[in-house]
Amino acid sequence: MSDRVVAVEFDTDGVGGAETAAVRLQESFAQPFNFEGSRHLIHPCIGGAAGRARDREDVRLVEGAEKALVDAREQGGIVLRDVAQHEPEIDPLELIHDLPRAIEAGEIFLQYQPKVHVRRQQVASAEALVRWQHPSRGLVLPGAFIQAAEQSRVIAELTLWTLDRVLKDQRDLAQSGYDIPIFVNISGVLLTDSAFVEQACSVLGKSGAKIGFEITETAVIRDPQSAIRHLQRFAEIGVAIAIDDYGAGLSSLAYLKQLPARELKIDKLFVTQLTSSNRDPLIVRSTIDLAHALDMEVTAEGVETPAAMALLSVMGCDMIQGYLISRPVEIGTFRRFLEEAAHLKALDSQRFSFLRSDRLWKSA
Ligand code: C2E
Ligand code: MG
Ligand code: MG
Repeated sequence: MSDRVVAVEFDTDGVGGAETAAVRLQESFAQPFNFEGSRHLIHPCIGGAAGRARDREDVRLVEGAEKALVDAREQGGIVLRDVAQHEPEIDPLELIHDLPRAIEAGEIFLQYQPKVHVRRQQVASAEALVRWQHPSRGLVLPGAFIQAAEQSRVIAELTLWTLDRVLKDQRDLAQSGYDIPIFVNISGVLLTDSAFVEQACSVLGKSGAKIGFEITETAVIRDPQSAIRHLQRFAEIGVAIAIDDYGAGLSSLAYLKQLPARELKIDKLFVTQLTSSNRDPLIVRSTIDLAHALDMEVTAEGVETPAAMALLSVMGCDMIQGYLISRPVEIGTFRRFLEEAAHLKALDSQRFSFLRSDRLWKSA
């Protein structure tokens, strides 16, 4: 018996229409069929999410479908979720009070997204992304609460919690043979916060885990002296530094040169439009050349299509990250992704390619 995940997308009239479609899909598997001389029966578990058509790229839609699939596997049959309800603006004050409780209550969790080395066709590292499973609001993505958390000490508490979780997950993966660095996003405000730097160095220093930090240039521009000094301390204890969202904010080559960073991540703004815009390929190309001249590896984030991946590969981009390879997924699914990638590569190391391995992209 084998277990495969297939993703389909279709237009319906809300959850009602999705339910009708799911029932028809299930009914079409009711009869056994003959294949290569033997009879087979497929038992589909169907998890789905319905949202507004204009939100079809929304991670909430995809994550809703994933959660529904987990429930469908437990309960059997069909589980559908409506993710179209309007999510009210989150009041930052309410959030700041609620976040420590949420951490304590286990509502905060992490998802991991792989970064794949294009030439080596290998998972080079992963990025940890925080999520909040709020009891009444449902899944809350970081865009809705990080900025508010940055306005108080709560961001330090959240980041220390994240580091702790990532250290555990990195060591567990390393013990299973997947000793890849995991990158944590570090808010700019924390780079000038000496108390945070001390606490982070103390947990990281003795961990022996491979950890990286993703920071934005704007974080450094605010108080360059102190931020660069702290980044150097992190680099000295073995933390890999990546510059995130390059090109999205203020960029200063003067600071770029002074940072102990080995990786530059091109903002997804340029990458998602790569094959449809005239200007973006030029920006991406020159960014790759600039980073290489500064002895850094380049990651393109937001890679969604094989065409974008092919173009980035020709341009000499070192690593890619995006929905094409895998969406951000929880640790168990991420581990299965690594296992499957290793398995496929071992089966056919000459011809293995993330570009061809469509089983990986969809099932992760
Ligand atoms: P980021 O660090 O630039 O993370 C990449 C974002 O792009 C993530 O959004 C990811 O889900 C999304 N993404 C990945 N692949 C694709 C793709 O192919 N297409 C598109 N359209 N998007 C893609 P997410 O998880 O919503 O995170 C948003 C931002 O929140 C992150 O941007 C980061 O700045 C911040 N963030 C996330 N986790 C943390 C954290 O633990 N601490 C801090 N301080 N910030 C965090
Ligand atoms: Mg990041
Ligand atoms: Mg980014």
